[in-house]
Amino acid sequence: MRALTVIPRQRQSFAVTDVPDPEPGDGELLVDGLAVGVCGTDKEIARGDYGSAPPDRQRLVVGHESLGRVRHAPSGSGFAPGDLVVGVVRRPDPVPCGACAHGQFDMCRNGRYTERGIKQLDGYASQAWAVEPGYAVKLDPGLAGVGMLLEPASVVAKAWDEIEKIGARAWFEPKTVLVTGAGPIGLLAALLGVQRGLDVHVLDRVTTGPKPGLVRDLGAVYHHEPIGTVMSGVRPDVVVEATGIGSVVFGALAGTAPYGIVCLTGVSSAGRRVTVDAGDLNRELVLDNDVIVGSVNANLGHYAAASDALAQADRDWLGRLITRRVPLERAAEAFTATDEDVKVVITLDDGHR
Ligand SMILES: [Zn+2]
Repeated sequence: MRALTVIPRQRQSFAVTDVPDPEPGDGELLVDGLAVGVCGTDKEIARGDYGSAPPDRQRLVVGHESLGRVRHAPSGSGFAPGDLVVGVVRRPDPVPCGACAHGQFDMCRNGRYTERGIKQLDGYASQAWAVEPGYAVKLDPGLAGVGMLLEPASVVAKAWDEIEKIGARAWFEPKTVLVTGAGPIGLLAALLGVQRGLDVHVLDRVTTGPKPGLVRDLGAVYHHEPIGTVMSGVRPDVVVEATGIGSVVFGALAGTAPYGIVCLTGVSSAGRRVTVDAGDLNRELVLDNDVIVGSVNANLGHYAAASDALAQADRDWLGRLITRRVPLERAAEAFTATDEDVKVVITLDDGHR
């Protein structure tokens, strides 16, 4: 079968290649791949900057934002042929650490976790794949066109879970949230904010393309002014930061309402410097009881929460998040997104099986 593969950390090695058909282990599901979403991590892997292959193998099958349809399911697995499924990305480390031992592999302490399509395990960008039933999430059949949004939605569901747990340390009735960055993570964070009944604001630099309309159609407010202007106008109780841009991050930290919570989800590259008044920022964080929290990945509970959130969302709106669909054999085109693209997906069910 065909798959999108790479020799990790080797430039120019990214290619659609022939790989052996999957051989499901005992109790595992055999799944026909429908699509994978492409994110910043995939681009780093494609550039040769990130990722690692399975032991004793040169190439890694990429793809961690999965969507497939069950072809074969062992009896008692809880799945049946035809079910729409998403495979979970991370697996607990083998030690395991305390967090992994408690099912919280998203909080792994020793870093020895593995991740499908990223770290030592083949991903889902292949025409078929196998998965353990305990790491497969069944989706509402109506999500067939958009189910590859579940993995990014799980990251956002975790961010909201963090925010709510931190908020619960004292009286907490947030009214206003600012989401910085209107990519897939930002827009899904805005969706989950609207589902919580919050007054949602979204900041991005673009003024054209689908992003402003997607925000407005959620009933949220779109901004494209500098972060300082937006913070002083909105004074959010909660910020979900999804750009990873230093000036935006520090602008968000400095401008929340008292008891503000800033959840950082954007991964930035090192080497970019910004000038901050550390004394002033520290003073504001202390005097306002503010919290800054970083959040990444998701555990099974967050996947379940994300599945519920997508099932409740407007299907047409979710479909508009996917701005391009590229067939597997032309996968390279999926890595040339523009600022106006939201989510680009690679489709896996275009024949040649
Ligand atoms: Zn661990």
